[in-house]
Amino acid sequence: MCIYVDAPVIVRSIAYKLCAGGKFLTFFLCFSEYLVCLNRRICTGGTDDSVLIGFSAIMIAFANSECQLYAPSVPMIVPVSLGSRSYDIVVGNDCLQNAGEILAAFQPISLAFIVTDPNVRHFGHTDRVADSIARAGIPIQRISIEPGESVKSPEGAFAFWETLLEYGADRKAVVVTVSGGVLGDLGGFAAATYARGIRFFQVPTTLLAQVDSSVGGKVGINLTGAKNMVGAFHQPLGVLIDTDTLRTLPEEQYLSGLGEVIKYGVSLDADLFRFVEAQVESIKRRDGAVLQKIIADCCRIKAQIVAEDECETTGRRILLNYGHTFAHVFEVLSDYSIPHGLAVVMGSMCAARLAWRQGLVDTTFVLRQIGLYGKLGLETEYPTEFGLERMVEAIVHDKKSEFGKLRLVLPTGLGQCRVVEGLDPQHVF
Ligand code: NAD
Ligand code: ZN
Repeated sequence: MCIYVDAPVIVRSIAYKLCAGGKFLTFFLCFSEYLVCLNRRICTGGTDDSVLIGFSAIMIAFANSECQLYAPSVPMIVPVSLGSRSYDIVVGNDCLQNAGEILAAFQPISLAFIVTDPNVRHFGHTDRVADSIARAGIPIQRISIEPGESVKSPEGAFAFWETLLEYGADRKAVVVTVSGGVLGDLGGFAAATYARGIRFFQVPTTLLAQVDSSVGGKVGINLTGAKNMVGAFHQPLGVLIDTDTLRTLPEEQYLSGLGEVIKYGVSLDADLFRFVEAQVESIKRRDGAVLQKIIADCCRIKAQIVAEDECETTGRRILLNYGHTFAHVFEVLSDYSIPHGLAVVMGSMCAARLAWRQGLVDTTFVLRQIGLYGKLGLETEYPTEFGLERMVEAIVHDKKSEFGKLRLVLPTGLGQCRVVEGLDPQHVF
């Protein structure tokens, strides 16, 4: 008797288990399936040798923790509670094809105006979103804008509005950004202002945009010498995050996003910090399941603070800015050649050392933070050529451009921070 065994189905089922279960359980399930096949081979001759070899390879790789197999997991939903402007952030693996179904819930939609850049489009992320929206019966139009901060400008916004008009976007149109934070901010700003405000939906494709810029509704453009100076609070209809998009992200951009992830851990959530510490190798491998949890946690932390202070009026939202005042100095002095999240890492270390000098944290806290950055390959020291004088000048200028006193978010322990005012700019570095 010969029993037909569908090898692809079995291998796929194992892939699912590798992704969904705990390590021990997964190994156990794989091993039992292996035994079943082996038994079938011995008793009936029905299992192909190649299936057994495949199982063995999977288990050896798994035992060596080299196994990268994974499959779509159940998306996590992070609600952002803002009354009538509430929405969900969906975080999953391999879930871009859900865009159409999610958007369809907001019909009638006259046009989905899909905005992306050539890098994101090149890897097929944009097409997956666009095809899914088209399949849901929503008319689509795609535009691609060159990457780079310079498009987040009045000229960029003007061109955006003109294009919306040219394609006949009316008040039932929805702007869909499939991009990093730059086009997310620009597209959101154009949506907030075109026809006195149309709807928008975000599909962030950089880690920084997934954990930070796509959450909270801040949209805007830069003026010469003043970042994010013109903008609005305009909440999206929803946010769809697919960790798979991070597989194509350049390493520097990935590390920049990790800078923001660790910021949340150090200043607001000790459990997140400990999780990142425990998952360094998986994070370096860009493991989908681990990233899904980390991104959902970051979104949850930010969403909670945004819910308490949507329009930055109560002072809660400033707590998201650990390391950021210093980071702005390094961004300005490097002429924005240091990516934001990497500047945040250097800025966070300045804040941690300052907190230590103020007696707010102990040495172990500072060393633990440096240790984690080091393990992930993040540079913690700012370039010495900036010089103290220029740094002090820049921080004083930053304080003026923020219309107020120097206010720094300093850690008071792992996962805790508070605002400290009145420090002498000469002594903060
Ligand atoms: P970005 O949008 O410039 O993207 C970085 C680069 O990565 C670009 O070259 C882009 O083409 C490429 N890229 C994007 N996704 C990719 C992918 N999946 N695969 C391959 N390449 C990909 O940079 P960013 O770091 O995402 O965003 C920075 C912007 O976000 C800044 O303008 C900053 O002011 C803004 N920001 C806004 C908020 C907010 O609350 N609105 C918060 C933080 C930062
Ligand atoms: Zn930031």
